[in-house]
Amino acid sequence: MPLPKNRIVTGQIIYFRAEIETCPDCGRKLKRHHAAWKKNISTLRGVFQVWNMAYHSPHEECGNLSRYFRSAQADALCMKHTSYGFDVLALVEELRFKRHLTIAGIT
Ligand SMILES: [Zn+2]
Repeated sequence: MPLPKNRIVTGQIIYFRAEIETCPDCGRKLKRHHAAWKKNISTLRGVFQVWNMAYHSPHEECGNLSRYFRSAQADALCMKHTSYGFDVLALVEELRFKRHLTIAGIT
């Protein structure tokens, strides 16, 4: 019997906002603009649906309406183009290179 296409079931949904709340140029409050990215991230504590929201300063006096701020904390959860958290990568590296397990042994 074939396995279902997507076996990952997400748990909690987490939204991240930019660490700064005010524009560094004019000092006014930033506004949410769009989702910079959304991923299902697999960690050792479960699978989370993570949204990293992009904020910008909507005031034309700042001169850069397309400069977006997003959460560095969310970006630090996993590498770009992957869905595994750094804790999973560290565990796999330890099992593979320190304990010399095979890939089949890890899985
Ligand atoms: Zn501004």
